[in-house]
Amino acid sequence: MALLEIQQRIAAAEVKVNRPAGSAQLIAVSKVQPNERVADVLEQGHRLFGENRVQEAAGKWPEFRIGYPDVQVHLIGPLQSNKVNQALELFEAIHTVDREKLAKKLADAVQKRGSCPELFVQVNTGEEPQKAGVLPSEVDGFIKTCVETYDLPIAGLMVIPPVDEEPSLHFALLSKMAKRNGLDGLSMGMSSDFERAIALGATHVRVGSAIFGERVAGVNK
Ligand SMILES: *Cc1c(COP(=O)(O)O)cnc(C)c1O
Repeated sequence: MALLEIQQRIAAAEVKVNRPAGSAQLIAVSKVQPNERVADVLEQGHRLFGENRVQEAAGKWPEFRIGYPDVQVHLIGPLQSNKVNQALELFEAIHTVDREKLAKKLADAVQKRGSCPELFVQVNTGEEPQKAGVLPSEVDGFIKTCVETYDLPIAGLMVIPPVDEEPSLHFALLSKMAKRNGLDGLSMGMSSDFERAIALGATHVRVGSAIFGERVAGVNK
């Protein structure tokens, strides 16, 4: 079973670098997967999931939560500021805080609700023009703005490395940025590189296709 195999590989990767068991959490990325596959993973006892679109999550998770009230869903894709309130209804964590306008909207909404999801700042370590995320040169200032100006607790940093580069370089860079800002959370590593991410300190790995099988090509990425 794919879930079990991934759980075992995570455990082995933790042992290899003397990390405590369970210190790298597995986010099962269920975007674009048929509901039967998601139900199957829920039945096996897994409770932490990732989605990259607010709309898709809204059509899927409220119903699953009825049967599995202890489920946690993390948003790992871009968040438009006009969807902040909806996102706070749907997600226990947001991994893609990446601009001041969004930080401000989040702060206002969090204040009204009286509770805050776990927040990660996405960093565009590869400085790719098409990719979301704060640039490395701006990350320290942006974290400071989130924390000091908007009173948002930032749990950690998140990265999606460039596809054609060695991910470990980007994981190491993200870890260094987190350390110098006093942050513990590191959301990094996907199906093809989660073991390397764990070796470099990942606290959350986001694994989709290796658990659920390939996504339908072209539908979403
Ligand atoms: C889709 C996605 C993943 C999972 O990718 P796989 O290669 O299927 O493991 C991880 N992180 C983000 C941000 C994603 O959008």
